[in-house]
Amino acid sequence: MYPFTHFLFAFFIGEILVKYNIFNHQIALITALIATLIDIDHFIYYGIKHKDWNLKHAWNGAVYKKEPERTFIHHKLGFILITLIIIATYFINPIISYILAIAYYSHMFLDYIPQIFITPQKTIKTKEAGFRINIALYEIIFIILLIIGIIFLIL
Ligand SMILES: [Zn+2]
Repeated sequence: MYPFTHFLFAFFIGEILVKYNIFNHQIALITALIATLIDIDHFIYYGIKHKDWNLKHAWNGAVYKKEPERTFIHHKLGFILITLIIIATYFINPIISYILAIAYYSHMFLDYIPQIFITPQKTIKTKEAGFRINIALYEIIFIILLIIGIIFLIL
């Protein structure tokens, strides 16, 4: 899914924890940023493979899935490794472990689970400042619902 979808989903979960006084707004925001940054592996992979550190090129390569640019962090090895880090962190600082857990698992959830149930029929294609976007209709609906949810949680 797109970076803003990862951001909003993690932020939404973070804001639920704000409601329960486990997080504050800043921590919810940090969680959302980390959830978004997990996809930086696409960029690093692209940069190393093509010796091209142009964000726009890497982005467009990922949008059209020409690149199998998900690295170990998106696969089983990364999942096990990060789960171990989350467990270890819990004994040092539970809040940091919640931040990592929400950021990572919400990201993995969106990357792998919706596609099992939904085959996107309708996508919307657009281009913003040279960045191609080819977004499924269900993702747009999900984004709108998340924004509404976040507004209700913050108000
Ligand atoms: Zn991802």
